[in-house]
Amino acid sequence: MQVKLTSPVKPQEKNILGLGRDQLLLLMADFEIQPKKASMRVNQLWSWIYCHGISSFDNMTNIDKNLREKLKTFFKISRPNIEKKEVSNDGTTKYLFCLEDQSKIETVFIPEETRSTLCISSQVGCTLSCSFCHTGTQKLVRNLSSQEIIGQVIAVYDDLGLWKKMKTKGTQSPFFEVITNIVFMGMGEPLLNYEQVKSACNILMDNKGLDFSRRRITLSTAGIVPKIKMAHEEIGCMIAVSLHATEDKTRDILVPINKKWNLKQLLSSLKDDVKLRNSERVTFEYVMLDGVNDTNEDAHRLVRLLQGLPSKINLIPFNSWTGSQYKRSSTDRINAFRDIIIKSRLPSPIRKPRGEDIMAACGQLRSSSIKEKASI
Ligand code: SAH
Repeated sequence: MQVKLTSPVKPQEKNILGLGRDQLLLLMADFEIQPKKASMRVNQLWSWIYCHGISSFDNMTNIDKNLREKLKTFFKISRPNIEKKEVSNDGTTKYLFCLEDQSKIETVFIPEETRSTLCISSQVGCTLSCSFCHTGTQKLVRNLSSQEIIGQVIAVYDDLGLWKKMKTKGTQSPFFEVITNIVFMGMGEPLLNYEQVKSACNILMDNKGLDFSRRRITLSTAGIVPKIKMAHEEIGCMIAVSLHATEDKTRDILVPINKKWNLKQLLSSLKDDVKLRNSERVTFEYVMLDGVNDTNEDAHRLVRLLQGLPSKINLIPFNSWTGSQYKRSSTDRINAFRDIIIKSRLPSPIRKPRGEDIMAACGQLRSSSIKEKASI
């Protein structure tokens, strides 16, 4: 019998983008026997990947050619694919990324005059079912890996040409072009994906790489109480809490996780357990919903609830979506609400709605792409 010879199969390349230094070191130990040399390789890779945005081993000129060839057969440095990109009139850029398993996630770049923020996702979909949030209507839910979280950041650096701008800084643009802040306010609940979010933050904060200071990274949570203290202590980043209501009966509906950890438990943990550092404040997000949570009494109650806790309140005009049961509060109502808070000496900016023409509210791009496919 004749045996058919098949050509050698290329081993499945492992993606190393978004792996931590420890994981990279383990991999490099297979190529360099001396531990010192292995850690030197990690430093080299780190710098190419996170300071220069290099995605091909061929360009890593300080690594000898033989080793580069070997690395190429085992590893890749790949980003999530941009499935859709929409740029708003105000410069807000929304990405829909397609992951290796075909899951879709959203990332939004929000440029301002003096800073630019990247809003990233921590999960595909979300389990929390907040009644005003579009992401909660999506069925499929899974945690993102640290690699997929970092992949969003790197893919946006690539797409916007930020690697070069990072070095030159000043440009002609009216917007601040490098990313100065990262917020976990995209799809998902970051504190329900704690370990992967923590690993991703450690990569973002690495001072030989992307070098974001802990003060420029914000985790936004609907209120996973035991994890808030942990994140603040272990990761050290800023905390934002999606409060949205001042009474349990309203919050139970808007943010159902309130039935597990109610307002009293949430706020007493923030006041007693979380040890804020110098000049640090907790940000409270409060979405303004017409006739639901926007009365003067709500504003006064909000001030009372936050007494004794260094905080700032972010009033968010509701970003409407088709099928939603809520309406945005009027501008007059939002201003009156803000004035009450400011009188109490709490900072309270009204978040300028960004990217409204491209449906930049949480989860909207992904859902619209699913609808588009369904109607083909
Ligand atoms: N799960 C986390 C982070 C994701 S949501 C959290 O709950 O904080 C990020 C922020 O966007 C939250 O404050 C959320 O309440 C808000 N948000 C979601 N949908 C919105 C909408 N349609 N309009 C305005 N804000 C919205």
